[in-house]
Amino acid sequence: MERDPVCGMTVDPEKAAAKAEHAGKTYYFCAPGCARRFQQAPDRYLLAAKTPTAPSGLVNLHSTSRSQAAAAAPAKDAKPPKHESPVGSAVDDGTGQSL
Ligand SMILES: [Zn+2]
Repeated sequence: MERDPVCGMTVDPEKAAAKAEHAGKTYYFCAPGCARRFQQAPDRYLLAAKTPTAPSGLVNLHSTSRSQAAAAAPAKDAKPPKHESPVGSAVDDGTGQSL
């Protein structure tokens, strides 16, 4: 079984919908669209296959620090459930402010 470098699916070479050669190696794809995308930027998908957690980083090897920053950021902020009436905003809280 070969691996589709574009979408990551496992493709049977005998049943592959499309294939493309690059750098002397034949790559198999689940769909012609994947082969087309691969041929437009082969290195992009080959590099992405080596680094599993870098979907958009072409040459950025320091992308691991981003995940640490995301983990350090608090997911749940201590926010009061009741919404305070904003100053200078339209009255929609039912406070009964009349002119
Ligand atoms: Zn595919």
